[in-house]
Amino acid sequence: MATNRTFTMLKPDAVEKGHIGAILEKISASGFRIVAMKLTQMTTKDAQAFYAIHSERPFFADLVEYMTRGPIVAAVLEKDNAVEDFRTLIGATNPADAAEGTIRKMFAESISENAVHGSDSDENAAIESAFHFSGREMF
Ligand code: UDP
Repeated sequence: MATNRTFTMLKPDAVEKGHIGAILEKISASGFRIVAMKLTQMTTKDAQAFYAIHSERPFFADLVEYMTRGPIVAAVLEKDNAVEDFRTLIGATNPADAAEGTIRKMFAESISENAVHGSDSDENAAIESAFHFSGREMF
C-alpha cells in the first residue's frame, strides 16, 4: 500500500449519536479522499485481534466490549502525509486533551469512547486496511 493512505473507524459511540455525516464532512473538507468505506460490526474476535497490542492493558476488556457493541464505519483515506495529518485532525486520545476543532474535541466524550480511530503508522495503516477491506474494495 502507498504511504499516502491511512485507515479510520468511526466508532460505535459516533455512529449511535448520528455523527457519521458530520465527521465524514469534516474529513472530506480536510482534504482526504475516501478510497474505501463500509458500515460493519466487529466481532469479539475481530476487536481482540485489531487491538491485540493492548491485550495486557487494564482497559482491554472494556475496549473490546465498546468496539463490538454496534456498527462502525470503516474507511481508507488518501492524502499526502495521510497518517500524520489524520492523527492531527482527530486530536489526542483523550478528548479533554484534544485541540479545539479536532474530531475528538467536537464529537468524543471520554478517553475510552473517543469517536474515531486513526492509524499511527504507515505500516499499521496497511495492516488495518487489509483487516477490513479486500484489494478490490479499495478505489
Ligand atoms: N483507550 C482506553 N483507555 C485508555 C487508553 C485508550 O479505553 O486509557 C482506548 C481508546 O478507545 C483508544 C484505544 O483504546 O482510542 C486505543 O488506544 P491508543 O493508545 O492506541 O490510542 P489512539 O491511537 O486511538 O489515540
